[in-house]
Amino acid sequence: MNEFSLIRNYFTTSSFERKDVIIGVGDDGAVTMTPPGQYLVTTTDTLLEGVHFLPETSAKAIAHKAVAVNLSDLAAMGAEPAWINLSLSIPKVDEAWLREFSSEISRLTEYFSVQLIGGDTVKGKTAVTITAQGFVPPESILTRKGAKAGDWLFVTGTLGDAAAGLALIQKKLTVKSPEFSEYLINRHYFPTPRVLAGTTLRRIASACIDVSDGLLQDLEHIVAGSEVGALVHLDKLPISEALGNSIQGLEHALSYACSGGDDYELLFTVPEEQRVSMEAAMASYNLPCTCIGQITGAQGKIDLRLNDEPFSFAETKGYQHF
Ligand code: ADP
Ligand code: MG
Repeated sequence: MNEFSLIRNYFTTSSFERKDVIIGVGDDGAVTMTPPGQYLVTTTDTLLEGVHFLPETSAKAIAHKAVAVNLSDLAAMGAEPAWINLSLSIPKVDEAWLREFSSEISRLTEYFSVQLIGGDTVKGKTAVTITAQGFVPPESILTRKGAKAGDWLFVTGTLGDAAAGLALIQKKLTVKSPEFSEYLINRHYFPTPRVLAGTTLRRIASACIDVSDGLLQDLEHIVAGSEVGALVHLDKLPISEALGNSIQGLEHALSYACSGGDDYELLFTVPEEQRVSMEAAMASYNLPCTCIGQITGAQGKIDLRLNDEPFSFAETKGYQHF
């Protein structure tokens, strides 16, 4: 199978066709329409074998994560996703792999009403780069920069699951219950981008980021971007039943929740006067939203407390490439 028939067989038929796509896959470039008066938000993320996923990762999980991490970035900006581009590097044409990969891309794009509008296909070590684009009204955009002293610090979902899932896959952790183990591993392979939460937080959150590198490292970005400090109550961190029951010792569970990457939850700040409307708006989703602390005026400082006592970890950093 040559490059052209590969593209035709696996990436030409869109599972979701949007009215704002004039030309999708098949020409030299895609042509799309941006809604008048809205900003276009663009983000790119690459997943590289051996760096972002283990060599034994399934095609389905690779496809899922590549789409999810990009949609998560759009969610963190308050943007509604519209289109993705897919640049795929594969060592050989493995039809079963491609079928599994492309059907997960189709499933997710359809679920989120997103259209695959183009890409590139090359031979090489397995790597997937997705560029995602979405829209946000100018006054609704969420950034890392708007947090003010006194704002409440919230996070969606639960923290540390994906890192525990990875530790399980790597056999650095053992969990007695097969259900908990499966849950944690799924959280690692199949993160859920918080797309609806992101658009719901428009005009409500003062700052927002997605937790990709670990809570504390991503909180540092809000703290630096907004020129503020933060107080985090570790005893308030949302820890799933699976994680809580699988990890021995509170400090160990907290270190997963604080430093474990790849959860793709939203970490955001809410001014006091918006707190009630935020909780009402988020209550309609089946997604917990937990207040874990507050923004302070102590520029650049993140204060950790456990049961109101100052607390520090031996090692708290999240993932860094360099
Ligand atoms: P060109 O040589 O002009 O760059 P290509 O042969 O690389 O064109 O691609 C042909 C068409 O297929 C283009 O519309 C491109 O966007 C699309 N395409 C190529 N690879 C992929 C892919 N992996 N996923 C989606 N679309 C793709
Ligand atoms: Mg090309």
